Amino acid sequence: MSNPTSLTLRTYQVGFGDCFLLTFHYPSPTGDRHILIDFGSTRAPNKLLAKLPAALPKQLKKQFPGLKAPVSASKHMELVAEDIAVQSGGKLHVVVATHRHKDHISGFATNTEGTASGNIIRRLKPDLVVLPWTEHPKAKTDAEEAPSTIENTRAFVSSLAAMNSFADAIEKEATRLIKLRAEAGRKSTPTLNSLQFMGENSIANKSAIKNLMTMGRKVAYVNFGSREGKSALHALLPGITTHILGPPTLVQSEAIRTQRSRDNDEFWTLAATAASRFVAGGELLFRDAEVSEIPPHAVWLTTRMDRMRLQSMSALVRVLDDAMNNTSVILLFEAGKARKKFLFPGDAQIENWLYALSAAPVKERNQIRKLLMDVDLYKVGHHGSLNATPKTLWGLFEHRSSDVHAGRRLSTVVSTKSGVHGRTEATRVPRTKLINALRHDSNLQNTNASQQFFLESKFDLQ
Ligand SMILES: [Zn+2]
Repeated sequence: MSNPTSLTLRTYQVGFGDCFLLTFHYPSPTGDRHILIDFGSTRAPNKLLAKLPAALPKQLKKQFPGLKAPVSASKHMELVAEDIAVQSGGKLHVVVATHRHKDHISGFATNTEGTASGNIIRRLKPDLVVLPWTEHPKAKTDAEEAPSTIENTRAFVSSLAAMNSFADAIEKEATRLIKLRAEAGRKSTPTLNSLQFMGENSIANKSAIKNLMTMGRKVAYVNFGSREGKSALHALLPGITTHILGPPTLVQSEAIRTQRSRDNDEFWTLAATAASRFVAGGELLFRDAEVSEIPPHAVWLTTRMDRMRLQSMSALVRVLDDAMNNTSVILLFEAGKARKKFLFPGDAQIENWLYALSAAPVKERNQIRKLLMDVDLYKVGHHGSLNATPKTLWGLFEHRSSDVHAGRRLSTVVSTKSGVHGRTEATRVPRTKLINALRHDSNLQNTNASQQFFLESKFDLQ
């Protein structure tokens, strides 16, 4: 059997988002195998936009002769897609979309002219597209689920759909409030900014999802331990074992099951309807009823009520954000003769990890722990947030070392942009404490700290 001899990992600069191109190099006749994991952005890399042409590889400069800085956010994504086309020699073998948040899939969106980044990726004709089971068009009648759970699954998947419309309404409302403040000569607030960001990040991304479902020869909708996904990956990647560690199905995880209790589901559906009515067509439904002049003696009350309302919206939208993150596909590649291990957990948070780390059958769990202890590269979960790198996980990595010259020192990579996701110590992404730990105990590559178009690292697998 043919084994890959090395891996080149390219981490593209996409601002707040993820985009990784893994190229496994094989001896001929196998050649290179290319895997694209996620391609999305919710806040463009502003500094880079002005510097882009200087950072561009020569091939791309030839392809875009008239290109001048600064380029737009969508142009930036097109450039990333073109570079992926160049680096992969016009052919992708596997595309993975870990979950449906915009910062992971917006690059897959197409346009009718065929010029969008998603059209460029589509032309690379991937053999296999990997998506979480929650995207399965028949998720509501999944034959693998026991009959008693079909209803639960349907409720869960439809609550995910309801979240998208709720997020859409939140984003519109935050934008409206920011505009109102601007008209009154006031600056936006951190709460409003993060509401707008999280709302925008959760909208449905229909074009991207449709493209992902139809661009490949085959689609695998995966969950923890799914064999079909594992063997489909193995057929394309000889000498590499791919362990699928998440997301768990509802049967597998009580932790996720609690998030879709009947009450919750109804609540989100109601909230989505109410919120979209509230901002119908971007207009207030009862505009005439809006109080334009608040009597001075009542200002203290309205200010407090406004703040409370924003805080409630923030709390709701964070719950949505967490739930969607927990549908992330978690992949662990074990590659080459050296059996080096590369961990890509998307934005999985503790609830998603829970099954693999503590709820799976003991034998499986012990095997997983053993694999994780040996991880060589960790793609930092959820752009460096608080609960995407559980301490139990970080504590498992045995190749952590403060010695920069250590033989097999852990490598980590984080794709992030600060000041976007949250401002308080509890919500800030990336987490300063985590970034410090990563810097101290691993070889860290951080897109936030770099002006490069992409970061590159190589791993010997022999
Ligand atoms: Zn993300």
